[in-house]
Amino acid sequence: MPVNKEAYKQLTDELRLSNIILVAVSKTKPIEDILELYDLGHRDFGENYVQELVDKADKLPKDIRWHFIGHLQTNKVKSIAPFVHLIHGVDSLKLLKEINKQGEKINRVINCLLQVHIAQEETKFGLDEKELKEVVNSLSIQSLQHVKVLGLMGMASFSDDMEKVRSEFKRLKGIYDQLQTSNIKPKILSMGMSSDYKIAIEEGSNMVRIGSLLFGERNYAK
Ligand SMILES: *Cc1c(COP(=O)(O)O)cnc(C)c1O
Repeated sequence: MPVNKEAYKQLTDELRLSNIILVAVSKTKPIEDILELYDLGHRDFGENYVQELVDKADKLPKDIRWHFIGHLQTNKVKSIAPFVHLIHGVDSLKLLKEINKQGEKINRVINCLLQVHIAQEETKFGLDEKELKEVVNSLSIQSLQHVKVLGLMGMASFSDDMEKVRSEFKRLKGIYDQLQTSNIKPKILSMGMSSDYKIAIEEGSNMVRIGSLLFGERNYAK
């Protein structure tokens, strides 16, 4: 399936006006597809498997800003630490400390988002509100100088019930607003995918992660 350049143009026009960052989610897609958007000037791409990201980053231009949007295991941090632009899915203090440790080794400050569990489904990763507070509070006592927590990330339920999706995004925006008086003062609110980004933007997202709308449906079987 070809890259949908028409959708890309519409989307970037729509987002530019409100300064919303588009992360083009290229997981499972070939490097040729990524290069098509790269040639249109796009630089922010998202992947959710470490090995796939490492392989692609190796083959593609070095000015791409790679976003890691998947669930990151502590033993894999090392492979992406040297080049990753933003890690969206930090869901424990343990992981944050490991990112800090790897950053320290290579003298690099690594940008992170804390992932908050907002969906009602059990399957999604992320911190609940209590855990989030614990991580934020302990950040003020720990000196983690090689990580920078820039904001929050969340995924709504996979649901046709758009009011449910909306209320989940609303909750995350509420938490984001509350944290403005904390020590982390988040600047990035990463929420919204192909099916729900419009709602996410209405609810205050400033970074959307969009895959299938741009690259077509994914085929995990191949
Ligand atoms: C795959 C993925 C996306 C993009 O999903 P689409 O529905 O294809 O837009 C966004 N965020 C995360 C965390 C993902 O894993």
